[in-house]
Amino acid sequence: MATAGEVQVPKFKLVLVGDGGTGKTTFVKRHLSGEFEKKYIATIGVEVHPLQFETNKGSLVFNTWDTAGQEKFGGLRDGYYIQGQCAIIMFDVTSRITYKNVPNWHRDLVRVCENIPIVLCGNKVDIKERKVKAKTITFHRKKNLQYYDISAKSNYNFEKPFLWLARKLTGEPDLEFVAAPALQPPEVQVDDNLMMQYSKEIEDAMAMPLPEEDDDL
Ligand code: GDP
Ligand code: MG
Repeated sequence: MATAGEVQVPKFKLVLVGDGGTGKTTFVKRHLSGEFEKKYIATIGVEVHPLQFETNKGSLVFNTWDTAGQEKFGGLRDGYYIQGQCAIIMFDVTSRITYKNVPNWHRDLVRVCENIPIVLCGNKVDIKERKVKAKTITFHRKKNLQYYDISAKSNYNFEKPFLWLARKLTGEPDLEFVAAPALQPPEVQVDDNLMMQYSKEIEDAMAMPLPEEDDDL
């Protein structure tokens, strides 16, 4: 019989993918207790960070899988994706090639994880020389993913992808986070006015018809 202290917290495997250098490791390490409790699985070369969040429906944990850098040398093994329950695909808004590669990461992911909630994140929006603008970010609309601008180094929108995934996974659209997780202090600051402009641009882009080209971007 379960006693106090043995309450089961729902846990979900979250697969983090995207080109090398986009900021995946930086992002996952922001969450302090997850970083403290991470486990290295040597056989597949991954670090699993248990990222816990407190919600109005109880606690939940995203066991977030991060590579040891293998993605720089091509795709990832199936073992990385197997039993993934949700995913984040990351690109770098200062590097067009990392956005161009998003359809490849998506294809590899859904080949193993057929129907899981996925968030696309454009990272490093703190950098002024942004190359991938809101109007070119259309991939998520074709594939029913959610999209967020983020900046791992400033913690900007850190919780957004997790909140969206938590609502999908629990089927509770009114789930809210009730306490902020402890995060590393910001290393850079974002410009609030610029972030407001960016979110307006995302909103405007969503109202535009999708381009017709049959290439995946
Ligand atoms: P990974 O290969 O996808 O795991 O990427 P890393 O986390 O190793 O980050 C690659 C580089 O991008 C490092 O030099 C990070 O410091 C930098 N970086 C990561 N996130 C951000 C960010 O939000 N803003 C800025 N300016 N740099 C970042
Ligand atoms: Mg990494």
